[in-house]
Amino acid sequence: MPRDILAGQINATVNREKRPKLKCPWRAACPALATRLGIVLSVADDLDKSFSLAFPGRAPMSARDTRRRLATELAAAAAAYQVAAVIPHCAQCTKPCCRLDVLVLELEWKQVKVLWQLGESRPAFDRRLAAGQGPEEIRAGNGLYYAHSKPCPAYDQSCGACRVYGQEAKPDGCTDFPVYEDDGAVIADLRCEAVNLEVLTAWLARAVGPAYRMVKSADAEFPFLVTLEVKKGASRG
Ligand code: SF4
Ligand code: SF4
Repeated sequence: MPRDILAGQINATVNREKRPKLKCPWRAACPALATRLGIVLSVADDLDKSFSLAFPGRAPMSARDTRRRLATELAAAAAAYQVAAVIPHCAQCTKPCCRLDVLVLELEWKQVKVLWQLGESRPAFDRRLAAGQGPEEIRAGNGLYYAHSKPCPAYDQSCGACRVYGQEAKPDGCTDFPVYEDDGAVIADLRCEAVNLEVLTAWLARAVGPAYRMVKSADAEFPFLVTLEVKKGASRG
């Protein structure tokens, strides 16, 4: 059900609050992003080196294939973890992300139009927002919209379900939250009470196989965002 929703760093642009964004706009703006991108690049380098040591003489393309395969396996494992451990908990969650009291929902215009059931054009809506007459929970920035501080209009509070589940109107970020693959690593957002980091780490380790281990690191600025990287070599534990 609910997932993505991010806490935004959109804020430099939107409301100056320090809430991490998990998708692209965050990457563009967040200083912590550089760190994260650095981590991802280092994973790629590590894998390249490991691959070269393990398979001397093989073309670099093979190392890229290895990374791609690992990324695919991590993405599938992250999605499976959501299905197995997160979604079943949503209906009884004590802090549903769809309330948007902590998280920020990133939306494209077409999603705003459907979720808020708007009949007007985008320019008219933008003018209304700029004049302070739009929904107070929505702010515009970077060509996108950010909703925060009121429950998502698609959230059915009576049963804790998303009314646009499986539909185009559901933002991508909702599907990603709280666990998703990103450039060969898995990001876990611990603000979701259903995420058990130890279980998730073991789950991912099983997915990539015994030749690899998972290494955890928390974001320096937003410690509830944990990156799980794949490293060559079996776990010592
Ligand atoms: S669209 Fe709204 S109700 Fe549906 S998952 Fe996203 S935040 Fe929750
Ligand atoms: S915070 Fe996690 S468990 Fe709670 S509703 Fe959102 S995805 Fe489901």
